[in-house]
Amino acid sequence: MAVDCPFCRIISKEIAAEIVYEDEEIVSFKDVNPMAPVHLLIVPRRHISSLADLKAEDTMLMGRLLSVANDLARAFNLDKTGYRVVINCGQEGGQLVYHLHLHLLGGKALSPSIA
Ligand code: AMP
Ligand code: ZN
Repeated sequence: MAVDCPFCRIISKEIAAEIVYEDEEIVSFKDVNPMAPVHLLIVPRRHISSLADLKAEDTMLMGRLLSVANDLARAFNLDKTGYRVVINCGQEGGQLVYHLHLHLLGGKALSPSIA
């Protein structure tokens, strides 16, 4: 756990969040400032600061994060209409919270633009 990391504090239940999924290595909760009707964050329990810090041994974990995103898309009825999975990385990538996370967005027609 990293000191002063908001997502570590959510994972350890020090601060509240609307958790929608958890297993031994992954937690998902609703984004506090949703950009779409469904906006979930999917995070590893282990503190990894950003996508840029992934190591070769994290490959399985990364695959599992995407797989959980797909499972949640089905659970939130997004699978027929479609959805978007986003990872912001670093300052110019728009990353605000330095604990690796996937955004799962859906429930409306999202802009085709990604930048
Ligand atoms: P990013 O720009 O990819 O780092 O996105 C960080 C996301 O975390 C933003 O969409 C925030 O709204 C969201 N966020 C920040 N703090 C919390 C929190 N305590 N609970 C839920 N979502 C949060
Ligand atoms: Zn953290």
